[in-house]
Parts: sequence; C-alpha cells; structure tokens
Amino acid sequence: MTAREKAGDKYVYDFAEGNKELKDLLGGKGANLAEMTNLGLPVPPGFTITTEACKAYLATGREPDGLAGQIEAHLEALEREMGRRLGDPQDPLLVSVRSGARFSMPGMMETVLNVGLNDRSVVGLARQAGGSVGQAASGGSDRFAWDSYRRLIQMFGKTVCEVPGEEFEHALDEAKRAKGTHDDLDLDADDLRGLVETYKKIFAKHTGREFPQEPREQLDLAIRAVFASWNAERAILYRRQERIPADLGTAVNVVAMVFGNLGPDSGTGVAFTRDPGSGAQGIYGDYLANAQGEDVVAGIRNTVPLQELERLDPTSYHELLDIMARLEGHYRDLCDIEFTIERGKLWMLQTRVGKRTAAAAFVIAGQLVDEGLIDLDEALHRVNGAQLAQLMFPRFQLDHDFEAVARGIGASPGAASGAVVFTSARAVELAAEGKSVILVRRETNPDDLNGMIAAQGILTSRGGKTSHAAVVARGMGKTCVSGADGIEVDVPAKRFTVGGHTVVEGDVVSIDGTTGRVYLGEVPVTPSEVVQYFEGSLDPERTNDALVRAVHRIMTHADTRRRLAVRTNADTGADAARARRFGAEGIGLCRTEHMFLGDRRELVERLILAATDADRTDALAALLPLQRQDFVEIFREMAGLPVTVRLIDPPLHEFLPPLEQLAVNVAVAQERGEDVAKEEALLAAVRRMHEENPMLGLRGVRLGLVIPGLFAMQVRAIAEAAVAVTRDGGTACPEIMVPLVGAVQELETVRAEAEKIIAEVVGDSGVEVLIGTMIEVPRAALTAGQIAEAAQFFSFGTNDLTQMGWGFSRDDVEGAFFWRYLELGIFGISPFESIDRDGVGRLVRIAAEEGRAARPGLKLGVCGEHGGDPDSVHFFHEVGLDYVSCSPFRVPVARLEAGRAAIETTGSDSR
Ligand code: PEP
Ligand code: MG
Repeated sequence: MTAREKAGDKYVYDFAEGNKELKDLLGGKGANLAEMTNLGLPVPPGFTITTEACKAYLATGREPDGLAGQIEAHLEALEREMGRRLGDPQDPLLVSVRSGARFSMPGMMETVLNVGLNDRSVVGLARQAGGSVGQAASGGSDRFAWDSYRRLIQMFGKTVCEVPGEEFEHALDEAKRAKGTHDDLDLDADDLRGLVETYKKIFAKHTGREFPQEPREQLDLAIRAVFASWNAERAILYRRQERIPADLGTAVNVVAMVFGNLGPDSGTGVAFTRDPGSGAQGIYGDYLANAQGEDVVAGIRNTVPLQELERLDPTSYHELLDIMARLEGHYRDLCDIEFTIERGKLWMLQTRVGKRTAAAAFVIAGQLVDEGLIDLDEALHRVNGAQLAQLMFPRFQLDHDFEAVARGIGASPGAASGAVVFTSARAVELAAEGKSVILVRRETNPDDLNGMIAAQGILTSRGGKTSHAAVVARGMGKTCVSGADGIEVDVPAKRFTVGGHTVVEGDVVSIDGTTGRVYLGEVPVTPSEVVQYFEGSLDPERTNDALVRAVHRIMTHADTRRRLAVRTNADTGADAARARRFGAEGIGLCRTEHMFLGDRRELVERLILAATDADRTDALAALLPLQRQDFVEIFREMAGLPVTVRLIDPPLHEFLPPLEQLAVNVAVAQERGEDVAKEEALLAAVRRMHEENPMLGLRGVRLGLVIPGLFAMQVRAIAEAAVAVTRDGGTACPEIMVPLVGAVQELETVRAEAEKIIAEVVGDSGVEVLIGTMIEVPRAALTAGQIAEAAQFFSFGTNDLTQMGWGFSRDDVEGAFFWRYLELGIFGISPFESIDRDGVGRLVRIAAEEGRAARPGLKLGVCGEHGGDPDSVHFFHEVGLDYVSCSPFRVPVARLEAGRAAIETTGSDSR
C-alpha cells in the first residue's frame, strides 16, 4: 500500500508527521521540512497541505471535503504551539504560504509572506517587534511592521488577485522619489503607512473589493492561489521543458513567520555543505544581515560570504555548521539550505539535496564513498552520462562579454574557434599550415569528409541532429552546429552573412556545439582533462585531479556492473583505435560507403556507367583490393573483437556529381565544342538514377540485388581481409550486415551468394564469418520471426526505424519544425535523439522478442544514434539487447549508462 492510500482523506500533515520519503504527497519542501523537524532541528512550526488536495482542487475547482476543517485544526495547533493567534490585533501570529512540488520548479509557483496582517494586527506586530527585546526603537519596529504589511498587500495582490505587479512597483518608486531617495530603507514608518494606503487603493481598483482584513480569508485565498499556480502558463512551460509530469500538483506549506529583518542581529542566508561548482569540501554560502529571503533572491543588496557570520554571530554560526554536518550525514549528500536568524535565534527554512555541476557530481560521489557514507553502486547511481558527456568536451571560457550572432542546433558538443573556410579542400590546405579552421557549409555531404577531419568544427545553415554533418561530427568527437538558419552561406563568393555582419574566408568565428551558439572572433577554449584520461595521457593513479580520479573509479565500477557490451561505430582504423582506448569492445557498425569516395570515385563512376558485364566486373575487381586493405586495418585494430561490417547502403547517385552542376558543365563544354562524351554519359546516368524520395529508393539491400557483383565484391573483400589478418597471426571476427532488409527473401538471396563466397575464401583458415541484418524498416521489425530464420544477428538501425516509423525525413524535420512539436509538448525530446519508447521502441521490443523466439540466443544490438543516448541505453538494457554501438566519443557515456541501467531497479531521484 502506498503512503497515499494509507493517507485516505488526510489532506494536512503537521511537520512532525511527515518525512523525506513523502515527496509525492508533501512535495520536496514539505517532506524535507518534516524531516528536519523530526531530526530536532530548529524549523519554524507549520503544516503541509498535500498534493492530493491540490489535485482535487484543480479537478473540481473547489477544496475537497474535509480540507477546511483539517486546516482549521492544524492552524489551532500551530497557534497553541506559538502562543499566538493568526492575525490577533494584540500579538499576531503571521504565516507564510509557500508552494512546494515533488520536483523543484524554481520561481515558477507562488509564495505569500506575512499572511495575518491587517489594519489592526499591524499595530500588534510593531509592539511585538519592539517589545520582545525592549531595545529596538519603537520607530524601528513601527517601520518593520508597516513594511511587512505593504509587502503582504503587494504579494497577495499580485499572486492571489492578479493585480499587475508594476502598479505596486510604481507606487514604491513614487514614494522614494517624494522622499528624494533610491533606497527602500530610507522610507520611514509614516512613509510606509502612506504606501499601505496607496497599495490598498490599487488593490481595490483592480479587484473591485477592499483588501481582505480577515486573516483566515487571507490564508484560504493564498492557499487556493498556490494550488492554481500549478497550472500557470509559465509553470506548464517549465514542466514541458524539464519533462516533469503535468499531473503531480503542488503541496502548500503554511509556516510560522520568522523575520530576518528585525535589526542587525537578524539576517538570512543560503549555504551549501560542499562547493556545488567543484565538489570541494568546505563552507559555501552567502549571508545578508537585516534582510528577508526575498531580498537575497532579488539581489537588491550585496551579500557577504557565510564565513563573515562567525564574526557577526558566532553562536548561530557554529550551530549552523553543526546542523550542516548533521544534514550531510543524514542525507548522505550535498545539501543546500536556507536559513534565517531572528534576533540571534537560528531557524532552518529549507533544505534539499543540492543541484551541482557535472564535475561536482563525480567528485562528491567519490568523496562520499571515501567517507563511507555511500557505496559504489550509489555513487554510480548519482552521476549520469549527460554529465560525463559535458565533461568530455572542451569548453569556452566565456568570462568576457561575447555575444552570439546566431543560434543553430547543438549537433555535436564542444567548443571550437578557427578561420572560416567554405570548401573541404581549403580546410585541408589551411590545416596543413597548422591553422584552426571552421568549415562552413549550407550542409555537408560525404565529399566533405576530409575537410571535416581537418577542421576544428563544422557549422551548417541547414540540417538537424541526424544530418550528415551532425552524425559524422559526433562520430569524430568534433564540434558541430547545424541548422543555424540565421546564416546565409554563399560558397562561390566564399562568405556568409548573419545579422548584418559579413564573414569572409579567413575571418575567425567560434561555435559552441552544446548550446548551438555562434560567435564572431575567437573565444578562448580549455581542453577536457577527462578526455586526456580516456586517451591514456593522464594517469588516474598519479594525478591529483580529483575529478579524473573520481571518473576513473566510477567508470571502473560501471564496467563491473554492466550487462550490455559497448561497441563503436567506426569505419577507419584511426577511429577504431580511438574507440578502443575509450573502452569499445568491438565495432557494431562499420559503414562502407566512405570507402567509395575520394580517389576511388573514378572507379565507382566506372561501375555505375558500365555498359557491359565485363566493364562492371573490371571496375569491381579494381575496387576489391582497396576495400580489402580498409578491412585489414580495421580488423588489426580490433584484434579479436567483433567487427560488424555493413554492406553499402546509400543510393549510388550520391557518389556522382549533383545534377545541376553536371548539366551546367556539359552545356558549357558543348558550347565550347569540347569532347563531352563521358560527361554526357554521367549526366544521363544521374538523370536515370534521380529519385524523388531517395531515402525510400534504391539503397541498401535493394542495391545489392540490382547491381550484380557489388555485394559479392564487398563480401569477398571482408572474407579475404579476415583470412589475411588471421594468417598473419591476428584474430578477425567479421560480421557481415545487410542494410534495409524488409523481407526475409531479400536477406536469403544475399546470404546464399555470400555464403558461397565465404566458403570459397575462408577454406580451412579457421575464420568464422557471421551474416546478419539491420532491423531498420518497420516491416522487418514486424516480421522479425521470419527474418531471424536467415539472420545470425540483428542490429537495430534506429535512425531509419525512427525515420520510417514516424514518417519523418531525418535530414529535414529537426531544423524545419521540431521546435513547434517540442513547444507543444508532442514530444519532450527529438525521437532521433532519444528512443521513442512507445512507438519505435515497441518495434524494437517486438523484433527482439520474436527474433529470439524463432532463434534462441540470437545476438541483438543497436547501431543507430540512440546507442549512445543515456535514456535509450536504459531502454536497450531493459529490452535485453546484447550490446549498444555508438560513435567513439560516446563510448564512455554508454559504458556508464549501461552500468547504471544494471543497478537501477527503481526510478532515479536525481532531478
Ligand atoms: C540507422 O539507420 O540507424 C543506421 C545505423 O544506419 P544509417 O544511419 O547509416 O542509415
Ligand atoms: Mg540506416
């Protein structure tokens, strides 16, 4: 039975009744106030109205039965405890009414302070404030009381009754102007009394009624306003962005007011038990004497470092340090707290497990293990792949004022500065001179590969997160901003324009692949120590870098825990080598198409233009040794580890020049009377091959079935390379993968031919070659049981599966309209980035189950971009895949998340 069911119709909890586990019911703030109360810490007394009450209110528009009575009973108990009655004209109890949802939503919902003040109790409050220590001048306590009252009318008016806040601000400014000052503190009791009258008029003008004088009515209206603020537009937007469920509701905390603005012996502050920036141990916080919490937040006065409190009020300071140590020990984590000192008496107003930077998350998790507060599983649970990814990229030192001139999609994280170039060739030239360059294109294509390798970063004005530029850049761990559509790229003129600026070849720009921001000029960059560790150039046993030591320790633990193997997507020996250093246990996707580019393009053209079988056979024969050498290099790097080689996938016209360019060249050459027979043949071929929907056209297995000898050549190259490596004393474990299969018959046809070639090549060398297929067409997923009969493994191509599952063109939609889908909450994150569990994920699940039912033990992996996405890794673990494969740079992230997935049986609380 859950706490909620146990609670029945109980809608109000005294702080002494709750605890930190009841966040669903009491919200984060309420649950933690209860926990601190039960620890015996000095928390002002109060009670929490549950999220259930809020949900009932939002569903019906009225308080649920019994709520009013329960509030009454708890209020009476609070009054007894405090020895004061709410709003008593002689000696008033005042309360704050604060929202507090399950997940922190800073500043999104409402708070009303000083509830219980009215025309009569304001006098009692002045007496109370002046009398309790006897030394405050009555003028000072009068001022305090009237200031508190005007704050109530202002907050209540704005929050509860939607009076425009600026009207109160204007009135306050006007009062200051009349007094000839800019400082609120110069307004005396009389000024503030006058301001209260003005505020009341503003209130009456907008609401058509007087400011409510009845304390209980103030309280009830404030509670309703907090309930309603759950559905305020900004709160809805925030939830969408943060992926917080919409139906949780907020709790409401009613707390006896304590005042930090009663004089120099009062004050308010915030503190962290460790540095939330670096994780370093110590005391971090800010203190503001003679102030209320909202003054700190508003930043109207300058705070002092918390250490100053030792001088100002040593007793409170030491008590605070004791409490912080207790809270850390109790929560076993970094806590952040808010406190108030009222005339030398310390009060705890809030605590929670504090937010922290990615670096601090790792460092603190490591420290807490050392301190014996948590074990390594818990440490692993407390960090995540997104944090690790952040730590792996170079960072801009944005301490100066740099203003972004454009913003695109953060397609591959990192920070890069360099001279702008517009062609791959120029990128290579300048890089050879030792210059940093940023390759700027409308969009990249496979021909830009060399330029992309040479560049520090890539900037495109078109395309999304799975555009060519994005996928390739991520694979290389290279910074990329794609789809920066504020930029007009003019390649022939070698310039781009953006917001009135013209940037020409050689000008320096800086791009941030995390935020998608583009800056003019050079922004200084710091390299990542975590990458140096993964690369092997920083020894974790020897460095005194606390972050590297913590990352090493947690990664090592993740590796011992994970069930999923982690492979990489790599198609060169260099990428394979890097991925191995990052911990890859094989290649899950070696795309073979880049092997048809560069100086091999001519051979590919011969193949495509072949007029006879003999011409085609010649072209293929010339390609064979080149392909074989590619595979030899990769098999050597991956010695003994599986290498999944995918047969060629993209439509062949991608290897030919663009139609328009070719047509112009031919026309010009004809005009000049030159011999254009070859170009004309090419042009005819390009026209013949033109497709309206190439992504759904002649590609993948279809190519293999239509172009005789193409797949056969590749299969032979793979088998021969494996045999050559084995004969040299190495071990090659090739797995041949057929792309875009939709029907088992397609695979059977390819497989029959491949097996003959393999048998012939392999002979008695001992090499074993597996044949499997990608599952990337929805029909393949739905007929996986049949396909498994012919496949020794499946690898889910979730890029195409998402493209075809949703009917979203992967090159277009992210830049074109996903912003609107995200805004509307149709999905919280692009399905190309994180697997759509309900739809595309369901196809994966069906295929995994039916594939394994037909062929027990069938090896299952994923090689789409999702293989390196933290959330998706958890899904693939749940579905029972054997491995995920991702770009080299994301291998550590996948290792970490696979470890986390293995230890996590319950949901994470890390938000
Ligand atoms: C896929 O579709 O998920 C895949 C890995 O293949 P590609 O991205 O090369 O189409
Ligand atoms: Mg694909």
